[in-house]
Order: sequence, then structure tokens, then C-alpha cells
Amino acid sequence: MLMRAEREALVDYGKKLSLAGLCPGTSGNLSVYDPDSGLMAITPSGLNYFETCPEDIVITDLSGNIADGGRRPSSELNLHAAFYRAKPEARSVVHTHSVFCTTLGILGEPIRAVHFMIGAANSREIPLAPYVTFGTQELAETAVRFCGGSKAVLLANHGLVTCGGSLADAFELAVTLEYVAQLQYRARCAGSPNVLDDEQVDAAIERFRSYGQK
Ligand code: 13P
Ligand code: ZN
Repeated sequence: MLMRAEREALVDYGKKLSLAGLCPGTSGNLSVYDPDSGLMAITPSGLNYFETCPEDIVITDLSGNIADGGRRPSSELNLHAAFYRAKPEARSVVHTHSVFCTTLGILGEPIRAVHFMIGAANSREIPLAPYVTFGTQELAETAVRFCGGSKAVLLANHGLVTCGGSLADAFELAVTLEYVAQLQYRARCAGSPNVLDDEQVDAAIERFRSYGQK
């Protein structure tokens, strides 16, 4: 079986995403990419995260050719592949339908710098890509284009995409951005949020470069 360790990690993190409330039902999908083989391991389409086993994970190349696995891969396979093509440092992509990120996308708002934690995405705000039908090549291309140099992008009336140097990083960023999106929504409901200026966010981004354990 190809990519056993990656398959097991995807099964674990799928449950974590579900328990964190970021992927209601069978929504969302996640993948891990191995640049040496050019293969990615991706969750199967429409399968409940608690019923997904390592055997259900699908191994494909970035063109969608299946190298191993009997399930249909995620309908967003092209979205994941587009991020790996555009961001050579990315080793994992996580796509969620998290409530507050999606709410901002419905309101037509990017995630703004209402909290310094936005710096974890290496950008001053999380851009918002316009609405495109799920599972299409057009969505993949639009998401990557609007993401630019950020590690994340909101999809209007749909959800969030994050990428990272590991599955843990991409997952943590999805959790963090849901927190910031919730703060923005709540602050807007209560009044007029103060948004950090570019200099303040840039200073936070700089601090994040040496944050945490080596
Ligand atoms: P899959 O179940 O095919 O991964 O699709 C879920 C989703 O979020 C589509 O955008
Ligand atoms: Zn989706």
C-alpha cells in the first residue's frame, strides 16, 4: 500500500477537523503531497470522516491519475493539485466549510487583521475568491489566483482553503483562521472593529518566523 503513514495521518486529521466543527457532514477534504514521487494522498469523496479507513484514502498524481486506491478521490482533487503546483513549499492542503469563515465569505468580506494571529497565514488579510461551482477546474484556478502569497484563501459562499509545510500546520491554520473569523464576525455584530494596520501585522508576521519550538 502506497503512502501508509500519510493515509493514517489523513484519517486522524479528518476526525480532528470534524470534531473541531470545521467540516460539517462529509464537507471539506484534505491531502498530503510527496514531491519526490509526485504523488498526493487525498481523502475520498463523500465519505464520513469517522467511517474513513487508511484503505479509503486515494493516491493520485497532480493530474488526477490514480496510483493506488479503490475509492473515488475528493471532488476537489484539482483544487489541491493547483495549490501544490503553485506553492512548491506546500506539503498539505486542508479545505473546510467552517462556519465563521464561510459566513464572512457570504458577507463578501475577507478575513481582516482583527487579531495578530492572522499573521500565522503570512499575509495581512485572508483574501476572498469569488463564488465558483465546487469541484471545477475553474474553482481551483480562481482559488490559487486570489490566494496569491497567502497560506489561505476564503471561497465565497463555500469555505476556506489552507496550506502548510505539514498536515499539522495546515490543520492548525484552519483552526486559527476560524477563530479570527469568529472574532471579526462578533466584533462587527457588537460595533465597529479596530483593524491592525499593515505595520502591526508585518511585525506579527516577523515574530511568527521564530515562534514556537525549533
Ligand atoms: P468531497 O466529499 O468530494 O471531498 O467534497 C466536499 C467538498 O467540500 C466540496 O467542495
Ligand atoms: Zn467544499
